[in-house]
Amino acid sequence: MTEKSVEVTASKTNKTTLSTLRIGKRYRAERVAADYDAIVIGSGIGGLCSAALLSQMGKKVIVLEQHYTAGGFTHAYERNGYEWDVGVHYIGDMGRKSAGRGLFDFISAGELKWAEMDPAYDRIILGDEKFDFVAGKQNFKDSLKQQFPQDGDAIDQYVDLVIATTKYMGYISQVKAMPSAMAKVMGLSSKNKLPDYALDTSYNVLKGLTDNEKLIAVLCGQWGDHGCPPKESVFLMHALIAGHYFNGGFYPVGGASRIAETIIPQIQVSGGDVFTYADVAEILVKDNRAIGVKMADGHSLYAPSIISNAGVVNTFSKLLPTEVSKKLGYQKKATDLSRSMSHAGMYLGLKGTAEELQLPKTNLWIYLDEHHDANVEAFRKDSNAPLPLVYVSFPSAKDPDFQCRYPGRSTIEIVIGPCDYEQYRQWADKTWGKRGDEYEALKHDLSDRMLAALYKQMPHLEGKIDYSEVSTPLSTSHFCRYEHGQAYGLAHTKDRFKQDWLKPKTSLSGLYLTGQDVVSCGVVGALMAGMLTAMSVVGLRGAGQLMKKIKSGEVIGG
Ligand SMILES: Cc1cc2nc3c(=O)[nH]c(=O)nc-3n(C[C@H](O)[C@H](O)[C@H](O)COP(=O)(O)OP(=O)(O)OC[C@H]3O[C@@H](n4cnc5c(N)ncnc54)[C@H](O)[C@@H]3O)c2cc1C
Repeated sequence: MTEKSVEVTASKTNKTTLSTLRIGKRYRAERVAADYDAIVIGSGIGGLCSAALLSQMGKKVIVLEQHYTAGGFTHAYERNGYEWDVGVHYIGDMGRKSAGRGLFDFISAGELKWAEMDPAYDRIILGDEKFDFVAGKQNFKDSLKQQFPQDGDAIDQYVDLVIATTKYMGYISQVKAMPSAMAKVMGLSSKNKLPDYALDTSYNVLKGLTDNEKLIAVLCGQWGDHGCPPKESVFLMHALIAGHYFNGGFYPVGGASRIAETIIPQIQVSGGDVFTYADVAEILVKDNRAIGVKMADGHSLYAPSIISNAGVVNTFSKLLPTEVSKKLGYQKKATDLSRSMSHAGMYLGLKGTAEELQLPKTNLWIYLDEHHDANVEAFRKDSNAPLPLVYVSFPSAKDPDFQCRYPGRSTIEIVIGPCDYEQYRQWADKTWGKRGDEYEALKHDLSDRMLAALYKQMPHLEGKIDYSEVSTPLSTSHFCRYEHGQAYGLAHTKDRFKQDWLKPKTSLSGLYLTGQDVVSCGVVGALMAGMLTAMSVVGLRGAGQLMKKIKSGEVIGG
């Protein structure tokens, strides 16, 4: 038996039990109050942020989460003495009082702490060549210029362009929170108009700066953070991601679950709470107004504001009654937009500390070569083609508290994509953990391929894996309710950024949207959407008061 098959057999025989790491209270109809000021469907970071901010405005808010633990993609799970995050590998700009950091501090009453990664937060690997993205704009430029000495000007121009482009997001976000009439007036000013290049492809924009295909491929090396390879992605999204990390990568101290854990007390200060196993079946509508929700157990809850953090496709094709969704035009709009890529993942547990195992606080982006789009295309056509993107993260190395919780242990996570949901659809209706031998064989194959990519970079880890398991798009669909297992909600295409209805306030009174479909994916993208949604719910004057509170940092019960 080979080394690899020993490891995978070990993981197969490990009992797949539900994680004991649970954040939030278990829902039962008799545990919820009769009246709330707002109901939030889904406990992703967007939903939690809206709920905490509304609570700070004195509103009693209930958050209903179908999963067994709160947090959406920010949840973490524990199995066999190891713990992994699922959608928080690193967050940018947490080392200074940025807008994101200020908001996190406010909604967690300063309880959420951050640890900085290595100065080289991302390592882009093209075949046998390695390129580091180093924290600090100047360091970032200097490091790349060492490897691309002929392209110094292009690198300078690139960084300037990224920064200039991200500035438009402030205006785009403001407009989303404003009443439509006001947004139209603001839109008349030419200084607010998004320049055409921002919605051109990342590849085209970078090609305008340099002909060096390798440099373009390196600069696009984080494309997995939004899910579109360079010839499909829009430069605006590319710039949002790249600029977000210019000041380095950060990780929540105590692991990703600390995000929900530290925010929930702020939701409770005004009488609200977060319930898990709380599956919302329908948004209730009466007299052209959203008035409440019906739970899967038949119980109904009522509130003047209903906020959906469940993604626009779920909201308009599953939760809102079909006739209402169709009449308002939302069903077609939401289902016409393409979905983001789906992914598969691998969760590894190792005996030994990060130091002993030489695990870095640097993410690895492993690519075959500089041809991102062609490699993705080949993999889309044939899933046996070489993996076009293998991303490796070392969460236990990034979290300074990990050794206190799991002494002498370490974890690694691997993500690959884009995966074809259709390849997995046949098992979608089967129970999680019991999808049969054929499905297990498919996972086995993925496991071998992911491990091979890891061992190529870190051969010293061969034989050190104590526990492993593989997730597929069905896992994302099961735990976070994205029907096709999409990692980032709607795809971040040009088309998506042109949809002015993707904003918190819907045309149905009382119904609001929040989360990654409102502005952009990413923890901070969804967090900011949470703030915009809370501002929309409390209206213009309330929004002003809320902004003052966030700035002052003073919380009720703090
Ligand atoms: C593999 C992966 C890695 C990532 N890495 C990073 C990273 O390193 N850094 C970063 O910034 N971002 C990362 N992201 C993206 C980031 O995690 C997400 O963009 C963000 O967390 C989404 O937040 P959200 O508010 O939209 O809610 P989501 O996290 O999407 O949560 C929505 C919640 O709604 C619940 N729900 C849906 N329907 C119902 C219903 N009917 N009833 C009750 N509840 C319901 C779901 O169960 C889910 O919990 C990653 C994502 C993935 C998939």
